[in-house]
Amino acid sequence: DTAAIQQLDSAHYLHPFTNFQDLNAKGARVMVRGEGIYLWDSQGSKILDGMSGLWCVNVGYGRTRISEAVYRQMETLPFYNSFFNTTNVPAVQLAAKLVEIAPLYFNHVFFTGSGSEANDTNVRMVRRYWDLLGQPQRHTIISRHNAYHGSTVAGASLGGMDGMHAQGGLPIPGIVHIGQPNYFESGKGMSEDAFGLLAASWLEEKILELGPEQVAAFIGEPVQGAGGVLIPPASYWPEIQRICDKYGVLLIADEVICGFGRLGKWFASELFGIKPDLITFAKGVTSGYVPLGGVLVGDRVADVLIDKGGEFNHGFTYSGHPVACAAALENIRIIEEEELVRKVAEDTGPYLKKRFAELGGHPLVGHADSCGFVAGLNLVRRKGATMHDCQLFEPEQGVGMICRGYLFDKGMIMRAVGDRMIVAPPLVMTRAQIDEMIALIRACLDATHADLRE
Ligand code: PLP
Repeated sequence: DTAAIQQLDSAHYLHPFTNFQDLNAKGARVMVRGEGIYLWDSQGSKILDGMSGLWCVNVGYGRTRISEAVYRQMETLPFYNSFFNTTNVPAVQLAAKLVEIAPLYFNHVFFTGSGSEANDTNVRMVRRYWDLLGQPQRHTIISRHNAYHGSTVAGASLGGMDGMHAQGGLPIPGIVHIGQPNYFESGKGMSEDAFGLLAASWLEEKILELGPEQVAAFIGEPVQGAGGVLIPPASYWPEIQRICDKYGVLLIADEVICGFGRLGKWFASELFGIKPDLITFAKGVTSGYVPLGGVLVGDRVADVLIDKGGEFNHGFTYSGHPVACAAALENIRIIEEEELVRKVAEDTGPYLKKRFAELGGHPLVGHADSCGFVAGLNLVRRKGATMHDCQLFEPEQGVGMICRGYLFDKGMIMRAVGDRMIVAPPLVMTRAQIDEMIALIRACLDATHADLRE
């Protein structure tokens, strides 16, 4: 009974990232089932999930192979920790598997329960690294405005979301932010490559302002996800790598969204030609079926931690949870057997790019782009000669939310970040399903356009 569930929901459940008054007024949509790229709600409506849940259901819904692996592990050993010289078989096997699919110089993994905990782990690990090297002042971490790195105190501090910082007095000391490489917003009058170099130079400026001897690490998402699928110019990441190398600053790639095939590589760092010292992962590692996150630790950091470190006083009850690791192993097997990484790189990813670019011709769209299986488009009041000459809507008009509403009603989930509409579909989406998704988006762009003219 939908109404009864909604009533209980409003009465007792404090939802994350949800306006409570809004929710109480409207009632939540109750999702009850998933299969492939589709969800069904409690009213029986079928919904195309353009967001893979929260960027995580890479292999799609309804994979009995994963639920069976979870069941088997629960029957054998539902829990044991890996504190104090103990371990469990799925955690060891998963660590070895992750090392196999990661770039060559990654030989170690630290497990957590989520992406936020993994980024907290990064903060402590990079500071410990510099402590062990006799540079205890080297503790500052540089991140970017509008980044999302999680909701724990350190994760939200690393993140650059003003709305999050405003609640609870964040960021914590020792975390500072530079501008993001948003070519649409800030690149007027420049080539994309020149803008990429400019945006990377903000890192060097900040390092010099703080003093390189104070800077522990730089953290960034290869493609900023929650900030609006911001695909950086090709010149950006190689220049960031050059600057980190020049000053010995550690590089952390937060691949919680970008990893596990989403950008057509196991890890997006490979796509952008960078060699991070640490890679944060979560979400796609289990396709979201069971919570799991972690940090891939490259040799530079692992060698110091292990050879000089003794005990690292850090860990979570659920670090290396055997059930979560069993789910991850089966999920990775599916990705391998169905060649999903290759398909996104060579087949469905390029097809999504082509179809998404066509949406750029719509009168309401100032710019549309994609990278692998993330894509976004900017809604604009009037198009211009270039994307930088478009006239934008006033933020108060909430045009993105209007468009999102039409999509929701027509049976598709697409996210609105201001007036940028974004998707990150399950990697199993076929060409025919991409066509279906594009047709739905186009119909909703038309409806939004008509609505705004009335
Ligand atoms: N890092 C990035 C890039 C993310 O997108 C997210 C979640 O969306 C996180 C970290 C936090 O992960 P979790 O929600 O598992 O704590």
